[in-house]
Amino acid sequence: MAALLPASIRRPISKPTRSRDGRFDGCIPHRKCPSFLTSRSRQDLERWVVGATVTAAYCGDPYLARPRSPRVFERTLVGRTVESVQRKGKWVRLVLNDGGRLFSHLGMTGEWVHVAIDAPEERFERARIDVLRRRRSSSVRYIDTRRFGRLIAARRDVPEWTSLGPDPIADGIDLNVLSKVFAEGRRPVKEILMDQHVLAGIGNILATESLWIARVDPRSLGRSLPPADVRAIARGIRRTLRRELARRRRHRTRAGDSFFVYGHAGEPCPRCGTQLASITLGGRTTVLCRRCQVYRRQKR
Ligand SMILES: [Zn+2]
Repeated sequence: MAALLPASIRRPISKPTRSRDGRFDGCIPHRKCPSFLTSRSRQDLERWVVGATVTAAYCGDPYLARPRSPRVFERTLVGRTVESVQRKGKWVRLVLNDGGRLFSHLGMTGEWVHVAIDAPEERFERARIDVLRRRRSSSVRYIDTRRFGRLIAARRDVPEWTSLGPDPIADGIDLNVLSKVFAEGRRPVKEILMDQHVLAGIGNILATESLWIARVDPRSLGRSLPPADVRAIARGIRRTLRRELARRRRHRTRAGDSFFVYGHAGEPCPRCGTQLASITLGGRTTVLCRRCQVYRRQKR
């Protein structure tokens, strides 16, 4: 490990843009939308490490590296070149030139940052990967205050990755597959949507917003949905993703304006003016409009 240097000579190369109020891009709170954060993390990592050779690697946290030991993290990475970085849902995969892999999940509070090779250890730094590319050395560090993230080094794909469904951004949404999953679904539609085996990366926010756009009550049973509802949900997901990506490009929308209904319980529905309700479904808070979101429970 590099010796600790005084803070005054820290030399960060690049970090995620963060405005003064601590929010990314001035839009959604950093920790509230991990799938978008993961998308950004993949792009950052791709820029920082693809084509680079790992000169040193260290993971100081056995809990994050489970089920492997931190030693495996080092052995898997050092001396290898990073060939590509992919994302599926909330997981990012680094593929190495010898076929080895590193899987990263940011959890609630994880983030990767890119700093100078001799930058001191970051606060809450859990792992670091030093790289050399075009004769320039730098270091990527994994920081995680609450340690809900994961860092799994492996020789091949791990179940956490292979069991994920398609990513709605990277792979698109296959309407036939989605219809089939809903048709067999005895669970509420929102729980099915948030099942990472169905579509990777759909969390509470995306599911809540998409169902409001689709005018479908989150409690409706999957198998009770007519085909028009399934199409509307797919459109709702795409629209929510597009809105979010566009806002991230614009870098200026104020936080709080981000969502139609998420976080707005008790306020009027933007469509019909009815007071938005808050319920708990599958252990998660859900906001809905009881008037314009249709509740279907009968098998068709
Ligand atoms: Zn409404």
